[in-house]
Amino acid sequence: MRSQVIVGNWKMHGTVAQSRELAQAIRDRLDQPRGAEVAVCPPFTALAAVSAILEGSAIGLGAQNCHWADQGAFTGDIAPPMLTELGCRLVLLGHSERRHVFHETDEEINKRVGAALRHGLAPILCVGETAEERRQGLTFTIVEGQLRAGWAGLSPEEMSRCCLAYEPVWAIGTGVNATPSQAAEVHGYLRGILSDLGSKDLAQSVRILYGGSVKPDNAASFAEEPDIDGVLVGGASLDALGFATIVGRCAAAGTTPKE
Ligand code: PEP
Repeated sequence: MRSQVIVGNWKMHGTVAQSRELAQAIRDRLDQPRGAEVAVCPPFTALAAVSAILEGSAIGLGAQNCHWADQGAFTGDIAPPMLTELGCRLVLLGHSERRHVFHETDEEINKRVGAALRHGLAPILCVGETAEERRQGLTFTIVEGQLRAGWAGLSPEEMSRCCLAYEPVWAIGTGVNATPSQAAEVHGYLRGILSDLGSKDLAQSVRILYGGSVKPDNAASFAEEPDIDGVLVGGASLDALGFATIVGRCAAAGTTPKE
């Protein structure tokens, strides 16, 4: 059975002081979450402060991106060892804002995935179609291409250390979430690709999260779907009570046994 994973993506929100306050408020509510794994991804500048606050709790720390090189002349970028040194265990890669605002390519994202794995970070590879691509019936083609390219060259063992997040671009930050059945359809499709890339066991063990306008009110409806193993939460993760509610509802809804 795959346990639910709930990850908060704070995006570019929060000074160090504000991030400390939010992390403490989340820890106060979720110190040892039951039935779910929980992590937060603060801005780079707040990682050290949030790491100190979360130390000793079961809440994991993640970053919102990483470069593929260990060090070098890459002004403005952050290397994986800089993240592990601060206690990061996971990293979001290929988020739609990185793909569509910063024009990161599948090839670059693939290099980031490889680098993260080499340094013991669990990459959460984000995939998702735009509204226009969905309208044109290209959803499966797009997510399949992003997954195959993002994971190109990985061994089965490396694939088993990854997570996926299906995040339709049209649902991120818009207040318009995919319906649970729309999301479940894509998750099922992705599991088929995992089986092809690795094995049936891999397809059954890799966690696939849904992201896009998840709120306390709709979180359980995603977690109830057998192929949805948790949620990646943007805006709603900036409110400690709302985030804790999402975690509680996913944990309760996700206790239905999944193959
Ligand atoms: C995200 O940033 O990954 C996200 C899903 O954002 P939101 O929940 O605000 O739609």
